[in-house]
Amino acid sequence: MQNGEAKFESAIKNSNFFKLSKDEQNFIKRLFKDYNLSFQEIRILITIANDLNIWGEENITHLEIKNNDTQNIKQAKKRLIKSIRDRYEELKNRPNSYKNFTTKEEYHPKGVKTQTVQKDTLGLGDCPVASEKTRCCNLLTLDAVESCGFDCSYCSIQSFYNQNRVIFNKNFAKKLKEIKLDPSKRYHIGTGQSSDSLMWGNKEGILDALFEFARKNPNVLLEFKTKSDNINYLLENEIPKNIVTTWSLNTPIIIKNEEHLTASLDRRIDSARRVADKGAKVGFHFHPIVHYENYLDEYKEIWQRLQDEFSSDEVCMVSFGTLTYIKPVLKQIRAREFKTKIYQMPLVDVEGKLSYPDEIKIEMFKNAYDSFKSWHGKVFFYLCMEPHRLWRECFGYEYKSNEEFEKDMIDSYFKKVEK
Ligand code: SF4
Repeated sequence: MQNGEAKFESAIKNSNFFKLSKDEQNFIKRLFKDYNLSFQEIRILITIANDLNIWGEENITHLEIKNNDTQNIKQAKKRLIKSIRDRYEELKNRPNSYKNFTTKEEYHPKGVKTQTVQKDTLGLGDCPVASEKTRCCNLLTLDAVESCGFDCSYCSIQSFYNQNRVIFNKNFAKKLKEIKLDPSKRYHIGTGQSSDSLMWGNKEGILDALFEFARKNPNVLLEFKTKSDNINYLLENEIPKNIVTTWSLNTPIIIKNEEHLTASLDRRIDSARRVADKGAKVGFHFHPIVHYENYLDEYKEIWQRLQDEFSSDEVCMVSFGTLTYIKPVLKQIRAREFKTKIYQMPLVDVEGKLSYPDEIKIEMFKNAYDSFKSWHGKVFFYLCMEPHRLWRECFGYEYKSNEEFEKDMIDSYFKKVEK
């Protein structure tokens, strides 16, 4: 193998080169030959070509500019790479448009298999994405099930678990009974981080075990977080008052294009209404709020609808958050055979992770909080996994520490459920 070929082969190895069409592959190969591209330049063009495909944007082969300067190949290469990167950045930095975007053809359900194993451990621990660098509520997460049957394109779970296997632990109920908690302390524990809390119903007796755990531990605020409408078990059984069921909500455009296999917005809100009608407390999470054309108008419709359809007494919390990526998740999304616009966005470093710049976040979170004026002081509002500096900008107040945030949250939740 010639030097040139060897260089090209090593540059495309372990990349998404073979996900590209033959035309795109040949285009990059030709540019490599014509301009003697470096290893890095080849990798950048592969990433750009793959991203444009996944985003449903124009094809990289259409971005070539005519080279009139055959004398100075180096200059010509610089101009070419710059024009391709400028167009790519332009597409990243403008608000997304889902107008001509569809995932229908490309999206193939991942076909998860459920498996029951015997484990002597119980997944109870700190929220996997919590950090001292962000203002965090010190949530404890309980893994009733490992991995999820829904398929939200932005979800960080995809980098934690094997995507096609959902694990139930035969010993879950027994291990839950063995948990020793400090009776003088109050806890906020959530089951919606490692999987959806309700989509599996009472499979393997998980809801029986969790209801009993809540009854036995009145000092625990147990949160079920869900995108499901599978509420039969909650309707058929008496819900302990220290169980709060919360729905993650998003606009219909994002649910349709980015939250695959989940319940529609109407079905989620209807489910929350039916659970609240039983006298149980509910809550809502807008996480991620996604920045796209007219996004605020569409979110404001939902924010107003909740205030029209629920009373503040029925609602424990409303939280806001947005897209925040770690590199392994972006790598996982880029390797998938589907279409998404979920990372077509200006990505900046935020406390070691990648997310929107502050100005976009302040616009979305300030509008979100201001849209719930009728519930201010009656419902607990919080930003999830966001830098300290955004709180005062968006909410007009801030916490000095995660402990102060946690205490205020737990006090507010218990006051509401004990009402
Ligand atoms: S604020 Fe969000 S990320 Fe932080 S601990 Fe709470 S739930 Fe986890």
